[in-house]
Amino acid sequence: MIYLDNSATTYPKPPSVIQAVNNAVRYYGFNPGRGGYARSIRASGKVYETRNIVKRFFNAPDEQGVIFTSGCTHSLNLVIKGALNRGDHVVISSFEHNAVLRPLRKLSDIGYITYTVAEVAVGDDDKTIESFRNAINSRTSLFVCTHASNVFGIRLPVERLCALAHSYNIKFCLDAAQSAGLVDIDVQRDGYDYVCCAGHKYLYGPMGTGILVISRGDPLNTLIEGGTGSESSDSRMPEYYPDRLEAGTANIIGISGLGAGIEFVSQRGVDNIRRRESKLIAGLRSRLSSLDRITVYGDDTGVPVLAFAVDGIDSEQVSRYLADNADIAVRSGLHCAPLAHRSMGTIDNGAVRIAPCVYTSEKDVQILFNSLRKMLLFA
Ligand code: PLP
Repeated sequence: MIYLDNSATTYPKPPSVIQAVNNAVRYYGFNPGRGGYARSIRASGKVYETRNIVKRFFNAPDEQGVIFTSGCTHSLNLVIKGALNRGDHVVISSFEHNAVLRPLRKLSDIGYITYTVAEVAVGDDDKTIESFRNAINSRTSLFVCTHASNVFGIRLPVERLCALAHSYNIKFCLDAAQSAGLVDIDVQRDGYDYVCCAGHKYLYGPMGTGILVISRGDPLNTLIEGGTGSESSDSRMPEYYPDRLEAGTANIIGISGLGAGIEFVSQRGVDNIRRRESKLIAGLRSRLSSLDRITVYGDDTGVPVLAFAVDGIDSEQVSRYLADNADIAVRSGLHCAPLAHRSMGTIDNGAVRIAPCVYTSEKDVQILFNSLRKMLLFA
C-alpha cells in the first residue's frame, strides 16, 4: 500500500516508537503515581521523563503544564469547556475542524456561550487579522485557531492573531494538530496560552495520544474527575496541573511511544522534515496543475498537504479508484472540516487530500500521479 493519509494519522510508526511501546507493555505496565513499590515509581519516572521531552520540544514554561490526553479532540475539549464562563464569546477561524466547531456548537445550543467564525482571507494575512478583529465583542474571552488547514495545508497567521488576542486581554488557543512536528512551535516565544496537539499525527506517537500545553491562566475547569493518586482525602480535584486534568490511570504505553516519536522528530529536525515533504508536494502540485479537469488548492507556503478536485468526478470516487486500482490510500470528502470546504467552495463534492510523511518517497508520488492520469483517460 502507498499510504498518503498521514494527516489523519501517520503510518508506519518509526521502529523506535514500536520498540518504546513494546518496552512499555513489558516493563512499565504498572500504575504510575499510585504505588510506593519500585516498579510503579519507575513507571511514574517514565511519565515524568516524557513530560519533560514535550516541555523541551515546545519550549513550554514548565512540565506541570504539559497534560497528556487521548488526542487533539480531547485537548481542545479541555480548553473549550474548561476556560469558558457563561456568557463568554469565542472567535474561531473559518478553517476549524469539527473538534473545535462541535464543542462550541454544543455550548452555544444550550445558551452557555456564543461564537463567531472569522473568515480566513487566503493569501492576505492582514485581511484575516481584520476579520478576527471585527469579530471581537466585549464578551470575547478566547480565540481558537488552527495553525494550518487540515485539508488545504494553508497556514494561518497565528503569531499575529495571538498578539491581537492578547492586546484585547483575550486568551489564545492554538490547534496544532496538523503542524506539531512540521512547524516549529515555541510556546514562550509566541505566547500561546494553550496548545492542543495530536500525538499520533506528525509527532509519530501511537493513536490514543494527545497533548495539551498550558502556559498561563486560571486553572481550567475539569472535564472529568477521578483519582489522581494525589490529595486523595479531598473529594475535589487538585487545583494544580497536571493532576487537575489527568484523572484516572495514565496511558503509559501511549505516552512512552509518544516520547519516542517526539525524539524521532527532534533528531530529524522539524524544518528538515517539512522541507523534504514540501518539495514532494510542490512537485506534485505543479504536475497536477498541468492536467485538465484538476483543480489544486492551497500553495507551497503551507504545511505539506495538498487537496485537489476533479471536474465531473466526486472526490469519493477518486479515492476509491486509487485504492482499487493502485492500492493508494488517500482521504476524500469533507475531512471533518465543513467550514474550510465552505470557505474554499468545495463543500458539494469535497476534495481529495494527499498527505505524505517521512517515509513517503518521490516514487510513491509519481505512482499516484500516473494513476490519476490514467483515471482521467478513462473517466
Ligand atoms: N484539529 C485538526 C486541525 C485536525 O486535523 C484533527 C484531526 O484530524 C483534530 C483537531 C482532531 O485530532 P484527533 O484525531 O487527535 O482527536
